[in-house]
Amino acid sequence: MENKKLFEQIVARAEKLGTYKANVIPVSQIPLDRAFRDMCATNACGVYGKCHMCPPDVGDIDALMGEVKNYQHAFVYQTVTALEDSFDFEGMIEAKKQMYKIAQEIRRLFAELGIDGALHLGAGGCGVCETCAKRTNEPCRFPHLAMPSLEAYGVNVSGLASAAGMKYINGQDTVTYFGAVLFG
Ligand code: SF4
Repeated sequence: MENKKLFEQIVARAEKLGTYKANVIPVSQIPLDRAFRDMCATNACGVYGKCHMCPPDVGDIDALMGEVKNYQHAFVYQTVTALEDSFDFEGMIEAKKQMYKIAQEIRRLFAELGIDGALHLGAGGCGVCETCAKRTNEPCRFPHLAMPSLEAYGVNVSGLASAAGMKYINGQDTVTYFGAVLFG
């Protein structure tokens, strides 16, 4: 299948899965900055060192940024969810769970389309297990489903949004999450 048709098919199928916007851009347009790893190290999310897919366990930042450059295309998608107000933390958690679910459905979509070797990157943490096996020093339970975040690979998500023609923030009392699949 020619690339344009394949990209249109991926975007159309992803929109049916619940993404708000989706687009395919060249990987060369993805802004990378190792400083995003430093932000992870501040442990604002409380998961640093507690998930196999998060820093530092996910791997050396320079090696991961190098891995990104091995791909040609990036399918970028976002979810946007309405919140009751800006303190609706339960709503944010639910929105993130929904994002994780969509990310795994997109993984299945790529497998169905026969796109092998794609790198799936999600939104903060892995999200497959309620509690990551890292917390009990056990190996990952589902390596074929485990998903690192965009930030863990040094992706500037705000810049990624601009490159993909999307807004990073989508209005008051909403929460937006981003994911990407690198392939080709
Ligand atoms: S699949 Fe489970 S055990 Fe593996 S990294 Fe994700 S949350 Fe941790």
